[in-house]
Amino acid sequence: MTIEDIEAAARRFSGRVLTTPLVASPSLSKRCGVPVGLKLEHHQTTGSFKLRGATNAVLSLSNEERARGVVAASTGNHGRALAHAARAEGSLATICMSHLVPENKVSEIRRLGADVRIVGSSQDEAQEEVERLVAEKGLVMVPPFDHPAVVAGQGTLGLEIVEQMPDVALVLVPVSGGGLAAGVAAAVKARRPATRVIGLTMERGAAMQASLAAGKPVLVEEQPSLADSLGGGIGLDNRVTFRMCRELLDDIILLTEGEIAAGMRHAYAEEREIVEGAGAVGIAALLAGKINDIDGPIAVILSGRNVHMGLHLSVMNGETDPFRKEAAA
Ligand SMILES: *Cc1c(COP(=O)(O)O)cnc(C)c1O
Repeated sequence: MTIEDIEAAARRFSGRVLTTPLVASPSLSKRCGVPVGLKLEHHQTTGSFKLRGATNAVLSLSNEERARGVVAASTGNHGRALAHAARAEGSLATICMSHLVPENKVSEIRRLGADVRIVGSSQDEAQEEVERLVAEKGLVMVPPFDHPAVVAGQGTLGLEIVEQMPDVALVLVPVSGGGLAAGVAAAVKARRPATRVIGLTMERGAAMQASLAAGKPVLVEEQPSLADSLGGGIGLDNRVTFRMCRELLDDIILLTEGEIAAGMRHAYAEEREIVEGAGAVGIAALLAGKINDIDGPIAVILSGRNVHMGLHLSVMNGETDPFRKEAAA
């Protein structure tokens, strides 16, 4: 993955993917003593940055591959993004998911024109169905993070941040499989080598952090979290994102459910933004005082907004850990 790959992705999908605003947060700037800018990527078409990687991947296929159709296993945002990206190019996306995926996300993906297949009760079983469709029907797999075209697409967010905040000293980026973090860090460090990039994720199932600590991809137990878009592993046969995150990320910081809830509440009450748990981890880390050595302007990526509105309302009303019973069970 080079900066040229990321620049090529930006050119390729220009006009299909929004350049999202980066706006000042007066309240976080005051609290941190440095300018804090919020990258409003939750305003991206389909409600998350996943459209960048999915669009770059679909546009990188041959016409013949696009005609066969694309397929992925997804817990939601990648599925939405791939459904939209495929339809925009006249291709059909088949999205495989487990029974655990919330109904609002399933119906949204259907609405975007995808063929949805509900199989099994784990992401692994959904992935087996993907592999079957690739082998038997010739569909082309577009994975949610561990793919060079996907990482390059997510990296365009890093290019935008450096253009919008040229003196940025620190970028806060949510991490699950690491496609977003790897791409953003590659872009930011190519343009501004001294800028730090710190990954944020939830204590409940921090697969990348556990893998970096172990020196190789490891499995972690999946538990329900407010940051549901950060669930799932990094893949034991990870090819792209593990190595990039190991080389490029300055740190990964873990957040409790209460801290993530506080981040969501701050986004709504102070910034007037509806952000899902995964998208609020950067704000959460600043509010929790978990970011040390602040020495210059900070860019915080708000990565998505696809939260069930009933859940959002209960968090706004003070709920700090709606999943504690399930997580303890
Ligand atoms: C997928 C996702 C992430 C994590 O991205 P990875 O590339 O898997 O690390 C963060 N936030 C939101 C909203 C997402 O959908």
